[in-house]
Amino acid sequence: MRRGGNYLGNNKDKPEVQNLLEQYSELFQDIPQLGEQYETREGGILTIVGWDGVTKAGKRRKLTCHCSICSLDQELHPKGSLKITKDKLMSGRQPCSCSWNTKWSERQNKIRVLRECEKRGYIFHGWSAEYKTQKTRLDLENPLTGNRWITTTINDFLLNGSGDPCYTLKAERAIAINKKPDEEHIKDFFKNWYLCRWHNFQEK
Ligand SMILES: [Zn+2]
Repeated sequence: MRRGGNYLGNNKDKPEVQNLLEQYSELFQDIPQLGEQYETREGGILTIVGWDGVTKAGKRRKLTCHCSICSLDQELHPKGSLKITKDKLMSGRQPCSCSWNTKWSERQNKIRVLRECEKRGYIFHGWSAEYKTQKTRLDLENPLTGNRWITTTINDFLLNGSGDPCYTLKAERAIAINKKPDEEHIKDFFKNWYLCRWHNFQEK
């Protein structure tokens, strides 16, 4: 059995071997093997570096992987944190953020939000309610406008560019692109700032 497993592993690119692997994948528990590499959706190289745990039935539980792209970010993906079952890996899924639907943990989401806040100059006061995946709302503050709001979800903030309702990303981007002369930027900023103050005043 051991020899069979190695033979199949070494010749896995041959179509006839791939057919066999598909048919008998359950029989060969040592496939995929340590050191084997797969290309990720984002062009990274995923290398199998170990196994994590054993199931009740005595089967190896999950593969530990290293991604040539994602593992460079050790804060977001610490060593040994990329884990996936053999079946998921064989069906083309990936344990890292190269995947098309990465399942971010609460810890990772906090890091991602903090990084985005740093970019935009916002203050992150934490989740505005109990944490529930990407739909969790954030408690954010923009020192520039003095506005603090709790309506933006993690996904809206990170993927859709949502931000301070008073001073939208659109305005931020316009300034970043820097197409207008300085006075126009200043005028725009104060227009937004006054609208925001007026809006807050109306709410009180
Ligand atoms: Zn990756």
